[in-house]
Formats: sequence, structure tokens, C-alpha cells
Amino acid sequence: MTIPSQILRKAHRIVVKVGSSLVTNEGRGLDAAAIGEWCRQLAALVHGEAGARREVIMVSSGAIAEGTKRLGWAQRPSEVNELQAAAAVGQMGLAQMYETKMREHGLASAQILLTHADLADRERYLNARSTLLTLLHLGVVPVINENDTVVTDEIKVGDNDTLGALVTNLVEADALVILTDQKGLYSADPRRHPDARFIHEAQAGDPALEAMAGGAGSSIGKGGMITKIIAAKRAAGSGASTVIAWGREPNALLRLARGEAIGTLLVAHTHKHQARKQWMMDHLQLRGSVTVDAGAAAVLRQAGKSLLPIGMVAVEGEFVRGDVIAVRDAGGSEIARGLANYASAEARLLCRKSSAEFEHLLGYAAEPEMVHRDNMVLTHL
Ligand code: GLU
Repeated sequence: MTIPSQILRKAHRIVVKVGSSLVTNEGRGLDAAAIGEWCRQLAALVHGEAGARREVIMVSSGAIAEGTKRLGWAQRPSEVNELQAAAAVGQMGLAQMYETKMREHGLASAQILLTHADLADRERYLNARSTLLTLLHLGVVPVINENDTVVTDEIKVGDNDTLGALVTNLVEADALVILTDQKGLYSADPRRHPDARFIHEAQAGDPALEAMAGGAGSSIGKGGMITKIIAAKRAAGSGASTVIAWGREPNALLRLARGEAIGTLLVAHTHKHQARKQWMMDHLQLRGSVTVDAGAAAVLRQAGKSLLPIGMVAVEGEFVRGDVIAVRDAGGSEIARGLANYASAEARLLCRKSSAEFEHLLGYAAEPEMVHRDNMVLTHL
């Protein structure tokens, strides 16, 4: 395994996420100087001026904050249609600014606006992946944001820390760098606890980090430290480590790429999931779930076993064959997720039944498993 200080130095494909308050200068308007700085550094990374040539993807927030300002509103609106209008207005400014600044530094850029649905549908997911990989191959820097204009609460990713992690997993990047308005993670909120300790390095997914991060957020963007910690855990699923660093730290990206320790490094020690299993893990919303009895839960937790209908006690939600569903224990905790072999209506008929009865119940004979082990990933080990 790569030693932690070398992770960024060795990283070939890097996703850089910048938050709204940095991009828009705390909501005052697009910060051309700051964006220019990041683009200058990205160009150096892509052109191989800081070691080997790198592939980089920018995930940038700021559409709503910038749109709010351009529309002359005093504060971020709360109505969905106004948020969507602000995002549509602000995204124009973001795209224009990134395009201009990247071109100044000899970089071609491309705008990609994604929704959760693009990532949850296997075909669209693979399309997005192949487009991104093509752009990277061409030396273009994709600039990604959530397609805020068309998403509603039920179908959105919700914050760009999470989107950054999903993109990291989508392209199997080596590292995710989250640039924010704080130096990194402290053991407690430094604004309220002056003795808070700075965390230089920790393991991504360590539950102690979530307690440290609390719920601190800003009124400008969406995520707080907690969403960054969870994003790091998510990115670790594809083997990527995460750095949380201050976006105004001079030359932060170049110094990280040279192996300097800046900010908080959250190291991925996890085994990489197979791509398809990672895709299932990255579904933020599922159409339904099945609840299993204690015996089936124990068998699934031992790993390597398929879920048979005989162990199912209830079916929640409406789903069709091929949808990703959750498998829950009697207490409601998700223990696994996988591709359903049966639609919810059929699954309800099959609860507690052995495969010998399936043909009689359904009118046709099909797979003995509700979720085959090859199509299942354990979510809590
Ligand atoms: N997509 C939102 C925007 O561009 C930002 C979400 C976030 O702050 O995480 O305004």
C-alpha cells in the first residue's frame, strides 16, 4: 500500500471539489481571482508541471449562490422553484468563468450537469462514465455540478461533497480533494472549542470522525464538515483517499501533488468494491426493500450467500425486476443491497415461501433467489 504522504503525489486521476462560499466569495459574487488560481494549478497538473501529468475533474458549487446575487435577492431563497431559477442563472456565470480561466491557462473545459437519476440508471451511469473518461483522455477538464434546475428533493444528490464522491467512484479516481473555507477537520468545532485539535490524518470511514464533524455548515452552500467526512467514506469505496483543505491555501493543489501534507488526509484502507457493487452502494435513494428474519440476516452477514424468499418477512415500496433494493433486518437496518430478481408485487407473494412453490404462486418458474449473491453487496460488515 502507498504510504499516506505519497497518496496525492502518486494520484493520477484527481477530483477537486470547491464549495459555494469559496467560489462566490461568501455569496458576494464569483471570485475570479480564486477561480483563476485553481485553474492555474489544474493546468500545471494536467500539463505535468508538478510531477507526472494528471487527469483532473472539477466539481464546483456556487450556481445557486451566484444566481441569488445576479437576481438581486438578499438571501438564498427557500422555495424550490426560486432555487432552481437561481441555479439556472448562476450556472451560466460559473460555466463562463471556468471556461475563461481555464482557457487563459491553456486548458479546454467541458460542462457536465448530473442528477442522481443519471447515476442510478445503469445505462446512463455507464454513458456518463464513458463521456468523462473520453474528456480526460483528451486532456479536457470536466467541470461538474448537480443539475439543480431539474432536480427535486426526492431525486437529488443534494450536496456537492457527495456528488464529488460519486464522481470519484464513477471514474475510479485515485483521490478526492475537497477545498473548503476551513483548514481541515478539527476534533471539535474550533469556533466554539478553542482547544480543538487539528486532525492531520485519519482513516476514511472511521466512525469517530463523524462525531467530531458535528453538523457545522454555512448559510451559503449545502454541505458541512459532516458531509465531507461521509463523502470521504463513500470515495473510499472505490479505493480513493480524500483531502479536506483550505481553498485559499497558496498553491494547495500543487503542493499536495508534490507530496506535501496540507489539510486533513482521510486515507482509504478499504478494499476496492467491484465496479458494479460500487454502483449499487452509490444509490442514494432506493425504490424499495425487503425485510428478512434473523436466520436469513445471519446467513447474509456471513457473506457469500444469496437471499432466498423463504427468509423474507416483508416487502416495502414498489420496484421492478432489476432495480437495486435494500435488504433490512427486523430492526430496519440495511444489511445489504442488490438487484431484485422479482418485482415488489411478486416478492410479496413469495415471502416465507420455498422455491418449490414459486411456479404455483407466480404461474411461471424463475430464479430461486430474490437477490443472487453475485448481484449483492453487504453494506454493514
Ligand atoms: N449545486 C449547488 C450549487 O451549485 C451547490 C450544492 C452544494 O453547495 O453542495 O449551488
